[in-house]
Amino acid sequence: MHHFDYRDGVLHGEGVSLEALAATVGTPCYVYSRATLVRHWQVMDAALAAVDHTICYSVKANSNLAVLQLLASLGSGFDIVSRGELERVIAAGGDPSRVVFSGVGKGDAEIEAALIAGIRCVNVESGDELAVIEGVARSLDLRAPIAIRVNPDVDARTHAYIATGLKTSKFGVDVDRAMALYRVAAASPHLEVVGVDTHIGSQLTDVEPLVEALDCVLALVDRLAAEGITLRHVDMGGGLGIPYRDEITAPPRAYGEALCSRLSARGLSLIVEPGRVIAGNAGLLLMRVLATKENGEKRFVIVDAGMNDNMRPTLYGAWQRIMPVRDPGDAPLAAVDVVGPVCETGDFFAKDRDLPPARRGDLLAMMSAGAYGFAMASTYNSRVRPAEVLVHGDAWALIRERESVSDLWRGEHLIDASWLAPGAADDPDDHGGHGGHGGGTRQR
Ligand SMILES: *Cc1c(COP(=O)(O)O)cnc(C)c1O
Repeated sequence: MHHFDYRDGVLHGEGVSLEALAATVGTPCYVYSRATLVRHWQVMDAALAAVDHTICYSVKANSNLAVLQLLASLGSGFDIVSRGELERVIAAGGDPSRVVFSGVGKGDAEIEAALIAGIRCVNVESGDELAVIEGVARSLDLRAPIAIRVNPDVDARTHAYIATGLKTSKFGVDVDRAMALYRVAAASPHLEVVGVDTHIGSQLTDVEPLVEALDCVLALVDRLAAEGITLRHVDMGGGLGIPYRDEITAPPRAYGEALCSRLSARGLSLIVEPGRVIAGNAGLLLMRVLATKENGEKRFVIVDAGMNDNMRPTLYGAWQRIMPVRDPGDAPLAAVDVVGPVCETGDFFAKDRDLPPARRGDLLAMMSAGAYGFAMASTYNSRVRPAEVLVHGDAWALIRERESVSDLWRGEHLIDASWLAPGAADDPDDHGGHGGHGGGTRQR
């Protein structure tokens, strides 16, 4: 459910006309609905009410500071995968003691920053990482709260790139290795075993694989208890899917019931790390048609947003709804490819999509773009990343300015004129006297 609808023939975000917004802010532009974000978070919170729980919103899905600030104001915790995300949470007013730190490779300095900030738990991905955490905690003279990320070897039945719970994936450790790591951790004065963690994949439409994963995790909890290692929480990760098209996705209520029914008698608290289900359908990408053309049988609609702005169609072959901002009524549909300006054949948003006629200057909205949209955007082709706007009733706020062209080369440096051809002297230290390497990689 979201708050993007036609009003008087024009698509609106809550009470804000996307036509008016495009005229003011320009395109491409991400538009998020405050009411939708709040509703999604609260529905998830209510679904888990039967057990003590913390929602640790997955920052990677949409890490705009204002989005984090809004979720923090609801009481959300956060799931981070880098120091950058930790700093974002803190800058947005989030509470570090409600932060869990996931991610298959964490740098030593990132671990240190997280422990100093006082996060709730580090989700440990390997024996090497556990040793680093212990060393950092010793040097800081504190006890690091940890959970081991277990790979339960269940098939999440989702796209191969976003399935993370199979034993062939790089994430987590198998149950037997987890047991061994817990024994190490429990014996260390600098580690505090607080929980167990898993995350089996993203865009799950069914709760069944999650239930399988939970049963596996609970069996591990029991084995640990038998050895005197008691856990306080179970972190089931994120992964609940959303309808992009006509998928039937398990509603948060069914998800909550499935998890809570297995946990309520155990006195374990629950952490979940939803990303997509909170932010996905709370956002769209507003874009303008630059041109239309035909090549042979094919018809193309070329828009001013590209794969650098929203990578999902290119990366996963993802299907996202495209709606004209002007209500087309019952205009006839024809199959078109909607493509971006980037110099890659992979730069497409839709293939053979039945859409009403579009002309240069028309506005289109790519729906369900609130998660893994801007967050994955790049500046490939030296394209500036889009603006981001949050709507709230009839009001809107610019929550990220469109990048400027000079932002694109911030931190780059021109080289000294003496290094420029022609006539630049060969580097006297260069082996074998092949010019070529120049001095461009050296520091003066
Ligand atoms: C990506 C990720 C999430 C969020 O996944 P969604 O499918 O967006 O809910 C949560 N936890 C971990 C460890 C992740 O990698």
